Amino acid sequence: MLMTLTCYAPNAADVGYLLGKNPASTFERPFSAGTVWVFYPEVADDHVTVALLTEIDPVGLVRGPAALAQLDQYVNDRPYVASSLTSVALKTAFSTALAGRSASPSRAGRLDERMRWVVTLPAVACDGGDDLIARIFAPLGYTVAADQLPLDERFPAWGMANVYRVTLDGMQTTQDVLSHLYVLLPVLDNSKHYYVGDEETDKLLAHGGAWLAAHPERDLIARRYLRYKRPLVQSALDRLIAADAQIPDAADAESESDEAAPPVEDPAEPEMGLHELRLNTVLAAIREAGAHSLADLGCGEGKLLALALKERMLTRIVGMDVSSVALARARRRLRLDTLPTAQRQRIEVAQGSLLYRDQRLAGFDAVSLVEVIEHLDPPRLAAMERVVFQHARPRRVIVTTPNREYNAHWQALGETRLRHSDHRFEWTRAECRAWAERVAARYDYRMTQRELGPEDADLGAPSQLVIFDRPGEEDARTQSDDVEHDLERSGGDE
Ligand code: SAH
Repeated sequence: MLMTLTCYAPNAADVGYLLGKNPASTFERPFSAGTVWVFYPEVADDHVTVALLTEIDPVGLVRGPAALAQLDQYVNDRPYVASSLTSVALKTAFSTALAGRSASPSRAGRLDERMRWVVTLPAVACDGGDDLIARIFAPLGYTVAADQLPLDERFPAWGMANVYRVTLDGMQTTQDVLSHLYVLLPVLDNSKHYYVGDEETDKLLAHGGAWLAAHPERDLIARRYLRYKRPLVQSALDRLIAADAQIPDAADAESESDEAAPPVEDPAEPEMGLHELRLNTVLAAIREAGAHSLADLGCGEGKLLALALKERMLTRIVGMDVSSVALARARRRLRLDTLPTAQRQRIEVAQGSLLYRDQRLAGFDAVSLVEVIEHLDPPRLAAMERVVFQHARPRRVIVTTPNREYNAHWQALGETRLRHSDHRFEWTRAECRAWAERVAARYDYRMTQRELGPEDADLGAPSQLVIFDRPGEEDARTQSDDVEHDLERSGGDE
């Protein structure tokens, strides 16, 4: 398999060093599936071409470590097409550049430079046709040419109808072009991967994180990349969604005071203290229900948890979020490490997704979702509803979400803009009511909707609060199989 990458830029030889390989010499290294060579067929002032040649050992593939044995034929297309094995070779050859670092300190300044890259892949395995190749690469800024291999260049016995000659041409940073290929070649390829495990999710997120979160085909990419392990796909998607939630990075957090804006608050939401008002309103609704236990789903940095800890009647408080960054902050905010035992026993912070049924959520008096539902893709709301209203089934569910009508009040937001880049939707009051009524009817809850924040006569208040109450105590456990009192397990994360 041969792949060439040509970079057009002044002092193009620098780019060779940026890739960590001396343009004047040839690099050769064995890897799990064969051998990879890197060499430079062209080095000019204004462009440089780097070639990655891999020799795959098909017999080794079949006989090698168990993980590779899924390729069940000795004779297969693997040595000839760019596929997941090419990604392994790419990483073997360019690990430093792929991680966004420069092996040559004097050229590190060029890491952020966007240069014109032309990538040529003489044979790419893709079962989704040229259309899929374009859908995957074009949104990243490439002009894509993908042509089916001419008949006389195929090996008919190997069924190579799905092999394309691909050229990608676009302005990219060095790391981007490498990470695009690294993540996306296996996505195009429909063969079983040599290995899919947790490690693969981490790779996908590590290398695709920044651009993948914003890619219009994000779900398709995650699904295909992690093709044979469904639960992994979901956890990768959840982590991407969380990564996308624009949580400022941990270094910033250290210097932030507790009053710093939470991730949900956009500069577009200028009413200072709105979030505090929200939290206090939610807390009042918890008290009103006489709740002794609370699960705060999508707890983020744990602001509500910190307030809840001060409420003596709450003897069991659990915060759950999908984002480990947010949870690390919550632990710091709550000072979990140094809490006195009596306090410490009242609270847990756990990683989890509210899209999955989770025994740890059973048996709570109250469940809160504060500015969380609008971070879920609409088709996933139904999963959240089942988890919360059918399986967890607490006495009271408290939901807050923005009121989109009120956005007109903030000039910084245009007609259609949402308050936060990760919001998948923002509802008008009528839309919110329609949703809440449907959920209440379906899962047998009573619902009330309230305005939250300073009210505008026409637009309503900036936020809306919906409270769902389970009618009567006697039907508390309709789903008896779901509600094992699995409290011992609930401390899984801490
Ligand atoms: N409730 C907090 C944080 C709101 S931001 C507050 O009011 O301050 C939305 C939070 O939802 C983020 O922390 C995000 O990580 C979390 N989230 C998004 N999707 C989730 C999912 N599927 N499961 C659990 N948490 C999720």
